[in-house]
Amino acid sequence: MTQAPHVAENLRICLACRRKSGRDEFWRVVRVWPSHEVQLDQGMGRSAYLCPNASCLKQAQRKDRLAKVLKARVPPEVYAALWTRLQVKGQGTSAQVDRRRTDEISTNL
Ligand SMILES: [Zn+2]
Repeated sequence: MTQAPHVAENLRICLACRRKSGRDEFWRVVRVWPSHEVQLDQGMGRSAYLCPNASCLKQAQRKDRLAKVLKARVPPEVYAALWTRLQVKGQGTSAQVDRRRTDEISTNL
């Protein structure tokens, strides 16, 4: 009976599309304390979560939403690293997965 609230506590929200999911589903961007440097995946500090897909990354970048959520300047390298990840992921998996992702994006639009 106490299971539901516990699960909800472990959910993270994508800063672009507001989708809720477990933290393993998202990229984590961290404003490291106390240096305030923004980096990916590791570190203690203020965190933002983003779906690993092109539409959410684009949205986070275009409105500089990531910077607003983190209250820090996000260096272009951070965005570049995420785009690289997306490309590597796309090449590593089959074309089928790519096509399905495109369908998801067009449905959202
Ligand atoms: Zn998202």
